[in-house]
Amino acid sequence: MKIYVDMDDVLTETARELSRLAAALFDIHVPYEKIFAFDLKQSFHLTDEEYLHLMRGAHWKGALEGLPETPGAREGVAQLLKQGHEVVIVTGRPLQTANVSQGWLRQHGFPELPFYCLDKYGRWSGGDSADPRLLTREAFEQTRFDLFIDDSPLALDLLQNRSDSRILVFDRPWNRDYPLTSSMRRVFGWDEVVAAANAATTE
Ligand SMILES: [Mg+2]
Repeated sequence: MKIYVDMDDVLTETARELSRLAAALFDIHVPYEKIFAFDLKQSFHLTDEEYLHLMRGAHWKGALEGLPETPGAREGVAQLLKQGHEVVIVTGRPLQTANVSQGWLRQHGFPELPFYCLDKYGRWSGGDSADPRLLTREAFEQTRFDLFIDDSPLALDLLQNRSDSRILVFDRPWNRDYPLTSSMRRVFGWDEVVAAANAATTE
């Protein structure tokens, strides 16, 4: 199977880190379990300016490099590859973070994987960049995946019409109210991702 794997909060513990960053920058304390909305501006009650400041902070090379790995992610990806699946990383991070993101994957022992930046949230535009790691919305719509793994409601919205694919919703506080379609199911960790991929293959 061709499997789309999101990066933030699927491979990396990004929101926990942003919660720490918001505390350090603005003295705003919103623990991970209380991050009710994927829109962190809303969750942290930030002004536009504070939000931009936070996101610039989050995209600092150092902040991205230092993100902890989601438990079981590396082993899970290795398992999927071992089972013969094709794993493609599709992140919503801006293209400017591609090098540091791929560096993080290498640093954490992931093998070289196809890697793309897709504007999932309508926050940035790759413009007319010729960087092959830029996946436009148009190109994405035309790319078939058998299985998707993502956590963000906005990304899940983009997958609504993929009724012939399976979609695994990686459980996070901000997606607990998301209305799952018949193609979607919630998974609580990488063990369940691997098991779901296995089950889908043997059907
Ligand atoms: Mg994510």
